[in-house]
Amino acid sequence: MILWKIWGISLDKVISLNVPDELIVGRVTGRRVCGECGASFHVEFNPSKIEDKCDYCGGELMTRKDDNAETVKSRLGAYHEQTAPLISYYTDMGVMIELDGTKDVVEVTADMFGALE
Ligand SMILES: [Zn+2]
Repeated sequence: MILWKIWGISLDKVISLNVPDELIVGRVTGRRVCGECGASFHVEFNPSKIEDKCDYCGGELMTRKDDNAETVKSRLGAYHEQTAPLISYYTDMGVMIELDGTKDVVEVTADMFGALE
């Protein structure tokens, strides 16, 4: 079953990466971005070698204005209200693939390719 066609590509599956809200809040609020080159770090999961300094260019690391707990919780509220209901809709259509989004990016990528084979 083809759900959509975008840029000539037929899409027939929907993937949901499931991550508990508390973990999403922690991931976003710990994010630090280089003001010079835009490189992204995380205070816990991907820290820079020198605190608050970019590993690549030595630039100052900063927290983006919208990377705060209040903004993230508000976005999660909107997600649960408006987007999450689509999971049961696509599940009923037989096109939903739910994956564990708490794993590291390499594992999640492998799970996605595995699920789409
Ligand atoms: Zn940098």
